[in-house]
Amino acid sequence: MKPMGPIPRWFTAEGGMLLLGGCGAASLVDEAGDTPLFVYDLDIVRATIAGLRAAMPDVLHLHYAIKANPYAPLLEAMAGLTDGFDIASKGELGAALAAGMAPDAISFAGPGKRDDELRAAIQAGVTLNLESDGEADRALAIAEAVGVRPRLAVRVNPDFDLKGSGMKMGGGAKPFGVDADRAAALASRIIAAGADWQGWHIFAGSQALDAGAIIETQRETLALAARLSDAVGQCPPLVNIGGGLGVPYFPGDEPLDPRPIGLALEEAITMAPDILEESAFAMELGRYLVAEAGVYLTRVVDVKESHGERFAVVDGGLHHQLAASGNFGTVVRRNYPVAVTNRFGAETVPEPVTIVGCLCTPLDRLADKVMLPEVAPGDLIAVFMAGAYGATASPSAFLGHAPALEMLVEA
Ligand SMILES: *Cc1c(COP(=O)(O)O)cnc(C)c1O
Repeated sequence: MKPMGPIPRWFTAEGGMLLLGGCGAASLVDEAGDTPLFVYDLDIVRATIAGLRAAMPDVLHLHYAIKANPYAPLLEAMAGLTDGFDIASKGELGAALAAGMAPDAISFAGPGKRDDELRAAIQAGVTLNLESDGEADRALAIAEAVGVRPRLAVRVNPDFDLKGSGMKMGGGAKPFGVDADRAAALASRIIAAGADWQGWHIFAGSQALDAGAIIETQRETLALAARLSDAVGQCPPLVNIGGGLGVPYFPGDEPLDPRPIGLALEEAITMAPDILEESAFAMELGRYLVAEAGVYLTRVVDVKESHGERFAVVDGGLHHQLAASGNFGTVVRRNYPVAVTNRFGAETVPEPVTIVGCLCTPLDRLADKVMLPEVAPGDLIAVFMAGAYGATASPSAFLGHAPALEMLVEA
């Protein structure tokens, strides 16, 4: 037997059936027409954002990093719920604009921006978070050629990282951003070249569940922004302090309480050096806003036994939900929370069951030796924590199965 992560606190059942957006999971599958199906519950997203906003300082802008989940109906809703989008490609630029986000509230980060991507962003009037001196040169030349004053911010590779983060995005040699000791020189250079300098983007890490570490990193981030701004001699219009707020995927993970983080950030902003007095501040989050709201529903095709172990084989797998298989940014495979939707809350049977996907690879394991109620062919399995880095972060063309369906629901 192996433990699994905690089922997010939002979910309940009626008559033993898991409810999503007030509707039974099985009837949502009927409505969608097939499995596997990702269901995103907009009420959970709204409640998460409301809780975060209540905790954070009023001045803080909340940006959504759309790579976490770019499903179009969700993006449209997010355009109304957040203050900006962070994008990482020309494709995401199109998605962000189509969702109705204002161009001046969109910032474009990410290494390896091609010339056509830089051009599209500059013409649309979105902010480029510059990742290198070379990218700055290309952006300035393209802006000159198209006759637009570009909105440019400098992404800084900080000289610290976010302790305890699942994914380190700063500190030491990194492909992201410009090293802190060279960032001020780059900002001064783009200002001298006539660009509309937008400030700093400092993203130190991701998936942290330690509030103390987040607080410490945010203090360091504001201090770094102030130091760099002093060197430039100008107040940055925006300081994007990154994000890093994590979500509980695994056994023992506890949800983060945003309130102490908000209080500390309020104090850090109030006490910030004068050079940041006129600055706006933004936090950019992906998974924290949407991960808990998503459930991946997949149907049991077969139940079998091998060498005394029980396997339930489902019609989904890592081609839709790679992260739950343990192959997306985790070192040791641990179980995501899962449930049998039609026996939600029912008593578990004594023998553990391993839930495997339909792909012909031993990597395709959605839950390893977990304790669940009876599982039979036709049952619907729910894999929780599927609202971020699911459908678009999985190798959906692998083995030629159909892509998963997606659906946005609300009560
Ligand atoms: C991916 C990414 C995010 C979102 O990360 P989460 O862990 O989903 O919050 C934010 N900012 C940048 C620059 C990113 O690359």
